[in-house]
Amino acid sequence: MAFDYLIVGAGFAGSVLAERLARVADKRVLLIDKRSHIGGNAYDHYDDAGVHVHRYGPHIFHTNAREVFDYLSRFTEWRPYEHRVRASVDGQLLPIPINLDTVNRLYGLNLSSPEVEGFFSAAAERCDKITTSEDVIVNRVGRELYEKFFRNYTRKQWGMDPSELDAQVTARVPVRTNRDDRYFTDTYQAMPRAGYTRMFERMLAHRNIKVMLNTSYAEIADEISYGELIYTGPIDEFFGYRYGKLPYRSLRFQFETIETPQAQPVAVINYPNHHPYTRTTEFKHLTGQVHPKTTIVYEYPQAEGDPYYPVPKPENALLYQQYKALADAAVSVHFVGRLATYKYYNMDQVTAQALTLFAKLASVPRAERAA
Ligand code: FAD
Ligand code: UDP
Repeated sequence: MAFDYLIVGAGFAGSVLAERLARVADKRVLLIDKRSHIGGNAYDHYDDAGVHVHRYGPHIFHTNAREVFDYLSRFTEWRPYEHRVRASVDGQLLPIPINLDTVNRLYGLNLSSPEVEGFFSAAAERCDKITTSEDVIVNRVGRELYEKFFRNYTRKQWGMDPSELDAQVTARVPVRTNRDDRYFTDTYQAMPRAGYTRMFERMLAHRNIKVMLNTSYAEIADEISYGELIYTGPIDEFFGYRYGKLPYRSLRFQFETIETPQAQPVAVINYPNHHPYTRTTEFKHLTGQVHPKTTIVYEYPQAEGDPYYPVPKPENALLYQQYKALADAAVSVHFVGRLATYKYYNMDQVTAQALTLFAKLASVPRAERAA
């Protein structure tokens, strides 16, 4: 059987394209993944104790893009959820992003919002040009808060100092002078009510889509007849590491089920300083599941293993540009997603990127790409 498209990777990038091409453009699609499941890193399932968990760490959906939210809403109902995180610092669990309460509780103060702005200004070390992940924080709140909340977490998570990483990494986490302790302030914040995997199942349930799991691209590239290729895996691997390896940061996830209904006050606790792991997540906060037991996951950063994060720093951007030149020249091959375009993208950004590629492939006007 001949396919119009072979899509490698059944995460957000590959699955959105499969859905659009099959349903809207009436293309025959073969979607493969080397893993044993769909959903990519957003995959969730019920563990042995019956607790609903995310296999690859906490995935919280948030976006300002109405188009993306409406599009995904075709495949899932939502559970309203606003994410809150605490950082374990100096023996307290303090709000992160740093806000008014963080400062007051850390230092035993009673500052108002204007006063905490003054506090930040007095502590800040202003730099003319903000280039690195150290600059972003030190320029805003000064070195002491930077060292308590950001420096060691970042060194652990990325295996390098924030001064070596692009500003965009720590700029993901804002600093606030009010008491808003939500991690995100996006317009749309919600979790798929029945989970991500169910949402993907509904996306991919179409007669034009065939899904093959436990199948790597290398295994079947020469066995299958297809028109165009959409690739969502690591771009350096696709080109046989011709210019050398692009660094991707990995994690080891350690799950623990505890015989208690609730283990921590919020979904995620960050441990910047004194632990080998970066954070713990208790999934029941995300899913709303009622269960006598609970499961948490510890994230241990590591260099080797499944590629989870592109590493945003100048020399990696240059190396990626070399691979991108090969990608741009490749005929009938399209690269999309977090690994294939080497971008530190969230799920909504990957969805939008996939919709953009669909509009181009199917010659659909941008305004109608998610219709
Ligand atoms: P992936 O989900 O990585 O899918 C790529 C797929 O391709 C994988 O399933 C892989 O097995 C397959 N593949 C690769 N190479 C091959 C090959 N050669 N042959 C066959 N198959 C192959 N985003 C948010 O919006 N909110 C969050 O809270 C959030 N939390 C995150 C937490 C962690 C720990 C991580 C790692 C990421 C998080 N993200 C979050 C980001 C989110 O996971 C990504 O934006 C999204 O999953 C990317 O989708 P993708 O399709 O590009 O890639
Ligand atoms: N970060 C930090 N301390 C924190 C939270 C975040 O130093 O308490 C830095 C760290 O470098 C991290 C980055 O900010 O990798 C982005 O944080 P985010 O929570 O967005 O990471 P993700 O959920 O993508 O792993």
